[in-house]
Amino acid sequence: MSKNLSLQETGELLLQAEKIVLCTHVSPDGDTLGSALGLARFLRQQGKEVTVYCDDQINAGFGFLPEIELVQRPSADVIVEADMLAVIDASSFDRIGLAATQVRYKTLLNIDHHISNTRFADYLYLDAEAAATGEVMCDLFVAMGWPLDYEMAVCFYTAITTDCGSFRYANTTPKTMRQAAMLLEYGVQSNEISDCLDMRSRSTVELLGKVLPSLTFERDGRIAYLTITNDLYDKSTNTDSFVSYPRYIEGVEIAVMFKAVEPEVTRVSMRSQSVDVAQVAVRFGGGGHLRAAGCTIYAPVEEARRQLLAELSKLI
Ligand code: AMP
Ligand code: MN
Ligand code: MN
Repeated sequence: MSKNLSLQETGELLLQAEKIVLCTHVSPDGDTLGSALGLARFLRQQGKEVTVYCDDQINAGFGFLPEIELVQRPSADVIVEADMLAVIDASSFDRIGLAATQVRYKTLLNIDHHISNTRFADYLYLDAEAAATGEVMCDLFVAMGWPLDYEMAVCFYTAITTDCGSFRYANTTPKTMRQAAMLLEYGVQSNEISDCLDMRSRSTVELLGKVLPSLTFERDGRIAYLTITNDLYDKSTNTDSFVSYPRYIEGVEIAVMFKAVEPEVTRVSMRSQSVDVAQVAVRFGGGGHLRAAGCTIYAPVEEARRQLLAELSKLI
């Protein structure tokens, strides 16, 4: 069980540590990467020894993020010692991969915004109302009076715009937009960032062409899903945007993408208009938010689909 911190206490705890490992969640998105990189940059400027760990492949599209080249992948053969391990934008300890076992820390801090947070850390700053952990970072910098620079602003803007769907999702609040406006004051060009984030590789679009025919409707068209079978699955092709195809269809309340990352391991992404999909994800050991959640089901894709659709059908 974590001790809840205020922003002030979170800032002070970070400043007390000298050797800090910041760590993202696996399947890294713009929020976890941007939040970790922006905070890492500030802490380095304070003279801290900072490592950013990400135990997964990072999509090439994030190459524009300042200091992304400093992100390291934890190694099974190396244990690092640190005053603090700070877990950024991850709601459970199993979401950070090898970073969970390869860092020997004195203090475990978690900064997050997931309603499904499992309170695994010693210290937690959780704001489940925040659209993004990037929004929490802005709150932290403002509360502490920490100076931002252009590079940090690019990181935090990327974090925020990623998780609120470019200010279109229901989690976008007046505060989300105020934080984004503050970041634009540092010279961030919103068009440049959206161009980077929306750019797709040819392989992504080619794979989409093969996956779209799998579109299936259930429950009178209230559930729609896509399936990436294991023979189509390619680790290096970014499929994060695919779930928006079943999502934006008239009458669809819940959209799902099933991805057979291994013959017996299925990654599930859910998006909903109203029902709470986070609670379904949690039932399968995953998590997320009311309208966007995910989990991994350790079964072949057909079986995973059967199990998940049975749970979703109970909701609508
Ligand atoms: P995704 O469908 O991967 O874009 O994820 C949607 C939301 O659910 C994000 O906030 C993720 O952080 C969260 N999420 C996805 N998969 C998991 C998981 N296995 N465990 C916990 N949270 C997850
Ligand atoms: Mn995230
Ligand atoms: Mn997030």
